[in-house]
Parts: sequence; structure tokens; C-alpha cells
Amino acid sequence: MHDYVIALDVGASKVMAARVCNQGRLEALHQQKTPVCAETGESLTCLAQIAQELMLPNRAPLALGIGVPGTVDIKAGQCWCAPNLHWHRIDVARILTSQLEIPVFLDNDANAAAVAEHRLGAGRDRTHLLVITLGTGIGSGLILGGQLYRGAHGIAGELGHVPVLGNGQVCNCGNRGCLETTFSALALAEQASHTYKRRVRARDLIDWAQDGDAQAMALLRRATSHLTQTLVGVVNLLDLELIVLGGGLASAGEIVRGPIAQTLASRVMPRPGPPIEVRLAECGPQAGVIGAGLIAWDGLLT
Ligand SMILES: [Zn+2]
Repeated sequence: MHDYVIALDVGASKVMAARVCNQGRLEALHQQKTPVCAETGESLTCLAQIAQELMLPNRAPLALGIGVPGTVDIKAGQCWCAPNLHWHRIDVARILTSQLEIPVFLDNDANAAAVAEHRLGAGRDRTHLLVITLGTGIGSGLILGGQLYRGAHGIAGELGHVPVLGNGQVCNCGNRGCLETTFSALALAEQASHTYKRRVRARDLIDWAQDGDAQAMALLRRATSHLTQTLVGVVNLLDLELIVLGGGLASAGEIVRGPIAQTLASRVMPRPGPPIEVRLAECGPQAGVIGAGLIAWDGLLT
């Protein structure tokens, strides 16, 4: 029987959980609704139960890795703010460690996805890359020099909160005109519902665009241009070699990837070496849970 950690990728609507070996291979992967409880403590107890159900009877896990959609103080193991989970300054690691009696490593979910794509997915042959998760919101994880870059306070990679429209909509971060207000599943659904004068989901819009609907393609193209504009700045600032597109909206495939790659190729500053590449993510919806597991393995080594 081999050593393993348990990993949880906690999203606003679902939790993905698995045992993870030190190579990132998943066992007993499953998904369930995110527990909704009046008290955060109860939610954490539910998450501890999910982890306990994955424990093998004769061998305890070495650690728990947990990815959450919010800002995280890695050293303190504290979730600073996760609006979709209604978590504010929650001592996630301390509480779960006391319940499970194993080390707990907490990180941002996009950071976890970036680690997975870098080690095992679309970025495994690159060392300077940005992995973007295009979903309900927009997250990203930066790998610089082969290492996850967290910044001064652990919140680097908030790509969704780069302002792109000076007088745009108010964002849930409190700022105005953030990228997330123009290009995210929620924003696209809103724009499409306005255009088609009925309720449209982002998924429908992508399906229609893939079927060649000109209006849907135009809408996606316009929204994508804000993302691309932001990425030109990010690539120029950090001299990246690769952008990886993940998350639900990346399932649009070439419709999203193609225009971004073309525009970046023509607008990024001239540079030595090969042009900036844009690839679709390879780890799929499991990227977050794989990455949370790998981060726990890394944490055990430090
Ligand atoms: Zn914002």
C-alpha cells in the first residue's frame, strides 16, 4: 500500500475530492455539492467528513491539500476572503488539522490548477507561464522560473481584477470595470441574455458559437478582446513564454484560443526566441484537485 495525501478542490457549487499519490495520480475521485451551512465551522466539519471518507482503513493520509476560490494566507493556513463561500478570515488549516490530526495545506484554487498544469499538463515543458481558469469568475496562477509565484501576501494572480473598462460595472471586489465583469461565465451570460432578449447561459453561447452562429461568435470575440488586451500587458511585464487557458469557458476551444494567440503574436513586444504560445489546459476539471494534492506533497517536503 502506498503513501497518499487527500485533496479537496472546494468550489462555490461543488467539491471535488480524491486521494493523490506523489506523482499526482488520483484515486477514488468524486464530486459532490459544496456543503451549505449557516456556520463556517459546520462547513469545515462537512469538508473534514469528505476527507475522512477517502481515508484508507489501514493507512492514514500524510496530509490534506485544499484549494479554495479566494485569497489565502499560506503561512497562517487562513482563508482571508472567499466571497462565494462566505468565508472571511477563517483558520481553515488549524480547524481541519484539529479534526483530522494530519497537516493541512491551504492554497488558492487557481494556484492549485497552475501547479497541476505545470507539472503534468499543458505547461510541463515550460518554466514561465500563466495558467488562467475561465469560469464563473477568472482566476490565474503564475509559474515563474518553474516555481509558483504568490507575491508579497499570497494573492498574486488576480487576473480577473485587472481593470479594463474605466467606467465599467462595479465588480464584487469593490473596484469598477474589472476583466471579470466583461469576460467570465456570469458576464457572458448577462451579455448574451441582453443580446438574445432571453435567458442564455455561457454554455449555450459557446455551443452556438461552435455551431457557427455569427452573433454568438461576435459576442465571444468582443469579450475575448478584453482578456487579450490584459494578457498583452501581462506578457510584456513578465516576459512569459506560455499562456494556458483552462476552466469551463476554455471548452470553447479554438474560438477562444485562436483569436488570443493571433492577437498576442502581433501585439506583444518584439522578443528574441519563439513567440508567446497559447495552449488549452490538459488536466481538465481535475486540475484543481490534482494541484491541491501536489501542493500538500510539496508542503510535506518543506
Ligand atoms: Zn474586481
